[in-house]
Amino acid sequence: MTSTSDLVEASELALPTWAQLVFLLCAVGFILALKGLSGPRTARVGNLIGAGAAVVACALPFFYADLQNVVWILLAIAVGTAIGTVGAQRVQMTQMPQLVALFNGVGGGAAALVALLELQHFTERGAEVPVAYLVATGFTVLVGSVSFAGSVVTFAKLQELMTSRPVVFPGLPFAFGGAFVAALVVAGVIVGEPVMWAGVVLGVLGLVVGVLLVLPVGGADVPIVISLLNAFTGLTVAAGGYVLQNTVLLVAGTLVGASGTFLTLLMAGAMGRSVPNILFGALKGGSTLGAGEASDRPVRSVGPADVAILLAYAERVIVVPGYGLAVAQAQHTLRELVDLLVARGVRVDYAIHPVAGRMPGHMNVLLAEAQVPYEQLVEMDDINSEFKQTDVVLVVGANDVVNPAARTTPSAPIYGMPILDVDQARQVVFMKRSMRPGFAGIENELLFDPRTTLLFGDAKDSMGKLLAAVKGL
Ligand code: NDP
Repeated sequence: MTSTSDLVEASELALPTWAQLVFLLCAVGFILALKGLSGPRTARVGNLIGAGAAVVACALPFFYADLQNVVWILLAIAVGTAIGTVGAQRVQMTQMPQLVALFNGVGGGAAALVALLELQHFTERGAEVPVAYLVATGFTVLVGSVSFAGSVVTFAKLQELMTSRPVVFPGLPFAFGGAFVAALVVAGVIVGEPVMWAGVVLGVLGLVVGVLLVLPVGGADVPIVISLLNAFTGLTVAAGGYVLQNTVLLVAGTLVGASGTFLTLLMAGAMGRSVPNILFGALKGGSTLGAGEASDRPVRSVGPADVAILLAYAERVIVVPGYGLAVAQAQHTLRELVDLLVARGVRVDYAIHPVAGRMPGHMNVLLAEAQVPYEQLVEMDDINSEFKQTDVVLVVGANDVVNPAARTTPSAPIYGMPILDVDQARQVVFMKRSMRPGFAGIENELLFDPRTTLLFGDAKDSMGKLLAAVKGL
């Protein structure tokens, strides 16, 4: 007969005090990493501290545990390191959400597999296992597989391996509900008695729940679901840490779970949506994305020379960067243009919307890469009152984050999302390639406003011409 204290004692005996102390230091490293990641100046150091702590935590068992299959473990580490390094180096900034989805998915899947192995150990021991361990094991198998399958679908949607539109079919809510209830029943079986078949069935049901959870989510909402699944993976890892009696897993999982939950709520809030609406909105009918047709209504368009004059002779300019800036990779030329304007005595800031681009902090990362000084990046709430006194707003590849439909059109998918008050400025210049809408797929009335002009073309190309024109003045 095994009791909780026996299990705890057994695992603590296997872990020498010095190793427990190093694990504790790694946990402190993870907390410091999060602290560092909360600001652009300290983010790089924070990232390095977190990565360093993770490496130490992974290497530690080699020094105290009586490991078997060491060659296989080292081989797996080598393969994982190679894939991770090459993947992270090759990925484009605009593909970052997909990468996060993949990394998150394999984390959830790994936690589910570890829990299945533990379940097998429980059955082999043939002794009574405390209920709390069985609950944590069932939770890890179920939520880990949900996270794995859900992340794979989000990856496929963002990578355009499948349609990014919500996928709904008759009976989807019943299929989802049925799979979820069946999973709870099977988890109940495991809590009653640790049997391996129930663990495997639970894992398969988790995969079904994960797929059905993410299929109805529209492309624009997918990054939020990635963040939610990230929180799921964190909780799974924390529960796995409890089962394995491993403090560092418990702390790291809890940190990921908590920060993923906060990020999900912040992103949903920044888009003026609730999480249930994002997850189940499509089931109630209608896509969360609009039609996405290009408008043929007349607009005022000008060439780079005219925009150069507008900018160079203005007193106050605000630049609004968006997803198109990242696509065009025009951030370096944009910084040069802004530097030139500042040197001419124009006051210029960048207005940063919390969901501009396709991932949280996308614009901050993009502009930091071009060495834009942090002081020039002003958050939405701080800059919105300044648009009234602004001569020219230069909107570079942004659309939804300045679309007044968020205030005026209740049927719009972005209705309720706080926006940058660009429509209050004296003049607005949009740099975009066509009259196609932004990610939400809806028309932007600001494009047709008499104060608005459009500079059509790829942002990098147009920005180069604009820079040359300002230099020539
Ligand atoms: P949008 O997707 O609304 O608009 C992007 C604009 O860029 C389009 O109008 C497009 O027009 C233009 N564009 C694309 N490529 C180029 C190019 N090479 N050169 C010039 N222009 C280009 O982006 P926003 O940043 O305004 O809004 C972000 C959207 O993403 C919001 O709907 C937000 O809710 C959503 N979202 C953001 C998340 C985040 O965390 N940041 C997470 C989830 C969703 P054209 O094709 O005519 O060039």
